[in-house]
Amino acid sequence: MTAQVFAFIPHANSRIDDAAPELAAAARQLAPGAPVTALVAGDGAGVEAVCAEAVRFFPEVWKFAAAELAYPNAELLRPLLSRVLPRGAIVLFSHNTLAMDLGPGLAVKLDAAYLPDIVAFEAPEGQVLRAVRQEFNGQVSTHVACDLSGGAVITLRAGCFAASEPLAAAGRVVDRSADAQGLAARRRFLEVVPAEVGDVDITKEEVLVSVGRGIGDKENLPVAEDLAEALGAVVSCSRPVVDAKWLDKSRQVGTSGKTVKPKVYLALGISGSFQHMGGIKGNPFIVAVNKNPKAPIFQVAQVGVVADVLEFAPVLAEAVRKAR
Ligand SMILES: Cc1cc2nc3c(=O)[nH]c(=O)nc-3n(C[C@H](O)[C@H](O)[C@H](O)COP(=O)(O)OP(=O)(O)OC[C@H]3O[C@@H](n4cnc5c(N)ncnc54)[C@H](O)[C@@H]3O)c2cc1C
Repeated sequence: MTAQVFAFIPHANSRIDDAAPELAAAARQLAPGAPVTALVAGDGAGVEAVCAEAVRFFPEVWKFAAAELAYPNAELLRPLLSRVLPRGAIVLFSHNTLAMDLGPGLAVKLDAAYLPDIVAFEAPEGQVLRAVRQEFNGQVSTHVACDLSGGAVITLRAGCFAASEPLAAAGRVVDRSADAQGLAARRRFLEVVPAEVGDVDITKEEVLVSVGRGIGDKENLPVAEDLAEALGAVVSCSRPVVDAKWLDKSRQVGTSGKTVKPKVYLALGISGSFQHMGGIKGNPFIVAVNKNPKAPIFQVAQVGVVADVLEFAPVLAEAVRKAR
C-alpha cells in the first residue's frame, strides 16, 4: 500500500497524549514503509512543546499554530484538514470525543471510508484492511473489511495498540500554520472546568480494582473493597455504578470520568465499552473478570477470567493475602 498516512496528535497541557506513540506504531503496521506524518494543531508555547515531543515518534510533523486552534474544535479542524490532506490519504485518530465529532464529516469531505473505534487489525492485503471494531456501545465486536483505495479516516481505541519506541533520529517540524488562516466557527470554547478530585485521586494510583454494573448491587461493594485492600489498591468504577449512586463520581473511569494510568487494572463485571476503556491510558496490565466469555473487555485484557465476580474476588483476595 502506497497511500500517505497521517496521525492526528491528541494533546493537553502542552504534552502529547499517551495515544500518540500508539498511533505512530499503528501507522507503521498499516502501511509499512509509507511516509507517516503527524498533525499537530494548537497555539503558542503549547503547540511548540507538543511538536517537540511528536518528532520523537514521527519523521515529519505538520504544525498548525493559530489562536483559534488553542482548544480542539471539530468545526475548525474539519475544513483545515480537508484543505491540507491529499486525496487517498489515510488519517488516524485516537478514538476520543473530538475524533467522534470530527471524523465522520472529515471522511465525507475527503470522500474516504470511515472506520471508527478499531481495537485490532491485520496487516492489509493489497488495499483491503481487515479490522475488529466495537458496536452497540461496546457490547459487540465486529470484524470488518475496509477498502482503503479511496483513503480512510480511522479511529483507534486508546490502549489497544502497543506504543512505538522513539525514533533513532528525531523527525522534523514543517510549519503549515499559513493553511490555518481564516478559519471561523460558530461554536466557541469558553473554559476548562477541572474535574473534582474527591476523597482519593484514582489518577495517581498504580493498582485499581474497578467495578462495573456486574457487581450487581451497592451491598456487594465490600467484595471489591476487600480485594483492593489485599492488593494495596484503590476502588474505581464504570459509569453505571456512579449513575446508581453506589460510588462517588470521583471514582469513575472513562471519557466522561477520570483518565487513569495504573500499572495494573482489575476490571470486575465491566463489559469494556470504548467510553470506559478510553479513560485507561499507559497500557496497564488488565485483568478482566466477567461471567460472559464474549464480553468485549476480553479483547483487550492480558488475563481474562470467566467467573462470577462475587465468587472469584473473595478467593483472589484470600490467595493474595496468603502469598504476602
Ligand atoms: C457520552 C457517554 C459518555 C460515557 N462515559 C462513560 C465513562 O466515562 N465511563 C464509563 O464507564 N462509561 C461511560 N459511558 C457508558 C458506557 O457506554 C457503558 O454503558 C458503560 O461503560 C458500561 O458499564 P459496565 O461495563 O459497568 O456495564 P455493562 O455494559 O452493563 O456491563 C456489565 C458487565 O458485567 C458482566 N457481569 C454481570 N454480572 C456479573 C457477575 N456476577 N460477575 C461477573 N461479570 C458480571 C456482564 O457480562 C457485562 O459484561 C458513557 C456513555 C456515553 C453515551
